[in-house]
Amino acid sequence: LRLYSQAPLRVPITLPNGFTYEQPTGLFINGEFVASKQQKTFDVINPSTEEKITTVYKAMEDDVDVAVAAAKKAFETKWSIVEPEVRAKALFNLADLVEKNQETLAAIESMDNGKSLFCARGDVALVSKYLRSCGGWADKIYGNVIDTGKDHFTYSVREPLGVCGQIIPWNFPLLMWSWKIGPALATGNTVVLKPAETTPLSALFASQLCQEAGIPAGVVNILPGSGRVVGEKLSAHPDVKKIAFTGSTATGRHIMKVAADTVKKVTLELGGKSPNIVFADADLDKAVKNIAFGIFFNSGEVCCAGSRIYIQDTVYEDVLQKLKSYTESLKVGDPFNEDNFQGAQTSDKQLHKILDYVAVAKSEGARLVTGGVRHGNKGYFVKPTVFADVKEDMRIVKEEVFGPIVTVSKFSTVDEVIAMANNSQYGLAAGIHTNDINKAIDVSNRVKAGTVWVNTYNNFHQSVPFGGFGQSGIGREMGEAALSNYTQTKSVRIAIDKPIR
Ligand code: NAD
Repeated sequence: LRLYSQAPLRVPITLPNGFTYEQPTGLFINGEFVASKQQKTFDVINPSTEEKITTVYKAMEDDVDVAVAAAKKAFETKWSIVEPEVRAKALFNLADLVEKNQETLAAIESMDNGKSLFCARGDVALVSKYLRSCGGWADKIYGNVIDTGKDHFTYSVREPLGVCGQIIPWNFPLLMWSWKIGPALATGNTVVLKPAETTPLSALFASQLCQEAGIPAGVVNILPGSGRVVGEKLSAHPDVKKIAFTGSTATGRHIMKVAADTVKKVTLELGGKSPNIVFADADLDKAVKNIAFGIFFNSGEVCCAGSRIYIQDTVYEDVLQKLKSYTESLKVGDPFNEDNFQGAQTSDKQLHKILDYVAVAKSEGARLVTGGVRHGNKGYFVKPTVFADVKEDMRIVKEEVFGPIVTVSKFSTVDEVIAMANNSQYGLAAGIHTNDINKAIDVSNRVKAGTVWVNTYNNFHQSVPFGGFGQSGIGREMGEAALSNYTQTKSVRIAIDKPIR
């Protein structure tokens, strides 16, 4: 007997581009969309219009228990014991289905996160490439035969971990879903994934694609809900063997502490304050486009955003002027207008965080070159913003803003700029713009960052590992490196019983 009316598990949604689709709104557990046990729901807001898109079920602790039990059973009875080629085929199917649904997925992402369709299409393209790449790895997980002399036969195998808890942020909802589930599934693990509170829609839509791809029930479970409840419970759960997290450094630090009680494997992809260096010998027009893309891509909501620009003194004013006019040419607004490069920030909270940092930068004495204000008064849009003549000890130079705000400062020598670039708790990425190959390699060697881009920026590839030095994280995503986060090595040593001669 139900004394309350249950929210629907699917709703028709008309996207801002006029296309209508069916959006699942339940928790995805054991191959089914279900209501949360306590019937809790939350609203999902379109950041470009500030209007409600739909209501989604909100998982609570008891739902986590059900999802983890389903994932544990699927691990033991299905996914860890099938032939690796079965996993490969399912991931290839999933990659194909993402491709087939790419326009819908990109539109969902733009509507839910606020990012321009241009950015969302790029995300979805990388999602299918990465899932396909993971499918390719599934039957290439090798151990070793180890020579320990003639009295033993010794080998190692790489086994999956079990149920993996995965907690992702709102800046790349579908891309982070793929970076998490791809390597976990390829190596035989099962997953309970929590999307960010503000952006649950694409992961729920993609759950249907997982089913269609032939991924068995219980292998992928999706629990929209809050970090403090679902994220915390996953991090502490004794049946969850690994936590993979992308988000802020503060939350990553906290998750590591919670996960310590059950000694979970933990990988973290955290924040950054990445330096982007322009040397006087660079092609300056190209460098300006790259440094602007480095910060304004995805509305600045990028963990590796090149948010500290360093320009060599002899070209400082010239490059700054070029950056100002290029920045002012970038169109901001409705993500579904194909002319717009930059969409909305993802939430009211982020909008205000960014505007607060503008005030901080001004009060610290940074020179506002352009932007620094909200764009329009409906939707969470911010004009691309450049602050110049900053000092190394200013908060605007030290702290991650996570928005379209960049600082610019001057340097004269290579040694000086390396000291400035490395003057950060973070170490996620760095950019170098030069036409001198020796300088490019020398600076790449000396800069403390998990990724270095030369004459390019925010340039990702499914085969290239990505992750942080310092407080930017632990572990690597993509490429072969991602697989080691999801396997554990077992050594087997067999004594050889030799016949007596
Ligand atoms: P957050 O790190 O708190 O959230 C990221 C994810 O962690 C979300 O799914 C959230 O629900 C979950 N989470 C939150 N608290 C948790 C907890 N106690 N236990 C387990 N999971 C938990 O980030 P936020 O509050 O959404 O944004 C704050 C700032 O974080 C941003 O302004 C930005 O600077 C940074 N951020 C960085 C990234 C990145 O990719 N590095 C992504 C998003 C946000």
